[in-house]
Amino acid sequence: MNTPLHTPTRNPQPAAAADHPVDPIVGNRVELQLLTTLKCNLKCSYCSLGVGEVLGSQTQIGYSLDDLQAFTDKYLGNKEVYVTFYGGEPTLNRPMMVEVMQRFPHWRFQLQTNATLLDDLPPWMLAKLSNVLVSIDGGEVITDGYRGRGIYRQVLKNLRQVREQIGGSVTARVTWGNPDTGFEELDALVADDSPFDYLYWQFVADTMYGSDSITRRQAVLKQLIERFFAHTDRLYPVIPLMGIVRNKLMPGRARELYAGRTQCRVSTHLLNVMPNGEIYPCPDMMYVPSMRMGSVKGNWLAPSPLQQTPAMPCQGCEAYDWCRGNCMKNLYLGYVKNDLRYRANVTDPICELLRFMGREIDRHDPKAWFGRLSLPVRRQITDCEVYEYVEVMP
Ligand code: SF4
Ligand code: SF4
Repeated sequence: MNTPLHTPTRNPQPAAAADHPVDPIVGNRVELQLLTTLKCNLKCSYCSLGVGEVLGSQTQIGYSLDDLQAFTDKYLGNKEVYVTFYGGEPTLNRPMMVEVMQRFPHWRFQLQTNATLLDDLPPWMLAKLSNVLVSIDGGEVITDGYRGRGIYRQVLKNLRQVREQIGGSVTARVTWGNPDTGFEELDALVADDSPFDYLYWQFVADTMYGSDSITRRQAVLKQLIERFFAHTDRLYPVIPLMGIVRNKLMPGRARELYAGRTQCRVSTHLLNVMPNGEIYPCPDMMYVPSMRMGSVKGNWLAPSPLQQTPAMPCQGCEAYDWCRGNCMKNLYLGYVKNDLRYRANVTDPICELLRFMGREIDRHDPKAWFGRLSLPVRRQITDCEVYEYVEVMP
């Protein structure tokens, strides 16, 4: 681990955290999202860490592995821990990844990466990754448009080179920002010759929903859903569709890992540890001081401040049973901070797309379809491990 970077603590430790009378983590699992650096070797035009100038602001780790051990002993001792290496681009601080994987070999590990340096990781590390989430924006034109010329091909080449060595699954993580994104380019990510096992997307949290872009996205969603229900002998491995169908058939599954709260885990068991050791629930809100919920170096942890409130519109929503409040950040900015521009241009259009997906899925009679599935395909729908690593909802 690098030399500690001394970052002054912004707020004193909250009184509630001092004697932690309640377990700050809800449930028995916890995802430690360790930001190994805030540096990145790409400059994606929509990067959410660019908000509040988080990106690039911390390039060295400000806590030691002994600090991390003391923190996890105190708060996570009886939990099932899984780590996501996150950034910036996490592989730019490979020494930290190596130290954590060697010191805590019993944990599960996931890597969220742009995959440009994936071929530099040694085989033993690749073998221990339960899932690799690879950021990509769709097809070649759109990906290279956001990330730089040649990136799409480089990512696929790197993945093909190391695919056999990765112990777990490989998931394409698409931020669906561009209204030009078409069905074919998303479909190609899960084609037979693709190095990806699953596709997961999130609708971009930016003002990209004007003009006819909602109807254009709906047309693509319609095709994806059509394709999803076309077969019963094999899975169309698209996580948000798998998750929504599962939740519609078994709403209890949408609640059990999150105590009925949002499936993106920010209200229950997701700890984003910044390089300086400060902890926040949502990686997109690490610039908001009131969201700070702990510190590895200070060895304290409080319950997540990012929770559903009555100001949010979810309770009366037709999608609530299976959606459970999608993105708390979007709901918080639009309905708690009352940013009406954000609400109208980001939060509400995404909710509209979600409700559209729910209705489109219902048109295909998911219960009857599920009844016709082979058991291995059913098993994937009900228990896919990737649900634990992503937000499930788009
Ligand atoms: S679609 Fe929107 S309003 Fe409805 S439950 Fe989901 S996040 Fe809440
Ligand atoms: S889905 Fe959850 S983790 Fe992702 S930006 Fe929204 S609140 Fe944050």
